[in-house]
Amino acid sequence: MIQVAVNGYGTIGKRVADAVRAQPDMEVVGVAKTRPNFEAETAVDKGYPLYAAIEDRIELFDDAGIDLAGTVDELVAEADIVVDACPSGIGADNVAMYREHDTPALLQGGEDADAADASFNARSNYDTVEGADVVRVVSCNTTGLSRLVKPLEEAYGVEKVRATLVRRGGDPAQTGRGPINDILPNPVGLPSHHGPDVNTIFPDLDIDTLGLKVPATLMHMHSINVTLEDRPSADAVRDLLERESRTFVIPEHLDLDGAGAIKEYAMDRGRPRADVWENCIWGESVTMEDDDLYLFQAIHQESDVVPENVDAIRAVLGTDDQASSIETTNDAMGVGL
Ligand code: NAD
Repeated sequence: MIQVAVNGYGTIGKRVADAVRAQPDMEVVGVAKTRPNFEAETAVDKGYPLYAAIEDRIELFDDAGIDLAGTVDELVAEADIVVDACPSGIGADNVAMYREHDTPALLQGGEDADAADASFNARSNYDTVEGADVVRVVSCNTTGLSRLVKPLEEAYGVEKVRATLVRRGGDPAQTGRGPINDILPNPVGLPSHHGPDVNTIFPDLDIDTLGLKVPATLMHMHSINVTLEDRPSADAVRDLLERESRTFVIPEHLDLDGAGAIKEYAMDRGRPRADVWENCIWGESVTMEDDDLYLFQAIHQESDVVPENVDAIRAVLGTDDQASSIETTNDAMGVGL
């Protein structure tokens, strides 16, 4: 069993811990937190050994009556691999500790690409990271774009991608984020950082991205135009995307008219935390105009990277091949709407 540590047990970290626990070949050796909040308490309730991420704060856990298993240093020493899900920037600071212990580490998409030896998306470049010390699982938006680009590139060739990303202002629990009542071009200048980020996975891809932020918390929405080298029919593209395990082509009869309905569907399906691990692509929106493909897809920012982290663990440690890892992860988590 691969012993996995999770450092940073927030939105992404707690989901990764549960996904790792569900795998037949992995165990959560422990999770590290900075403070004894509700997530620390639920980690203990779930039976995850809890480690203090910052030694000076051990007393806070004692005061709250939450038992600690040790410090993050001990956790990293014990693990075969660490998933770092700390806030942006802190992951990069933690790299020295991981290197000191010679423990491979996964960073998240909030870190700069150069904080890691390589960037990762399971469908696109699984085979490139075996043996790497530090690998970055790309952000929610870049994951969503990569999952779309890879099959299109394989089947038809891609000349250029133009993507407008209408991004949620914050996650549901991020009370300090906004805008509350506005629509922000963000960033105002082009390209947004997402295009260059996709290029960390597809170095030769011609891609322009524009970003906006809106007063929403549930999901991101992508308006996509891909100029293809071939001219497939819209039906053929739809079929192609339906065959992918992490893209869900929404059938018209489901009447899912937006992110709210998709999240409701996820709740009705009994998804943990109403997570939507798949790109949700509106089937009716898949349109071909000459060699230009158009579509809308919704991306659940809190969860689409979770199966990617699980695959990255096997890819880095070289314990399984791409197809088998993706299938194992999907089966264990229940990915596939
Ligand atoms: P979060 O704030 O929800 O969780 C981070 C956790 O790390 C918190 O529990 C925090 O207390 C803890 N923490 C802070 N400092 C720490 C330290 N020094 N050591 C250990 N733990 C520490 O953040 P998140 O949304 O889970 O984001 C984590 C990373 O994942 C970021 O790089 C982010 O950009 C990326 N990401 C976030 C989303 C998203 O929508 N939330 C999506 C994809 C990728």
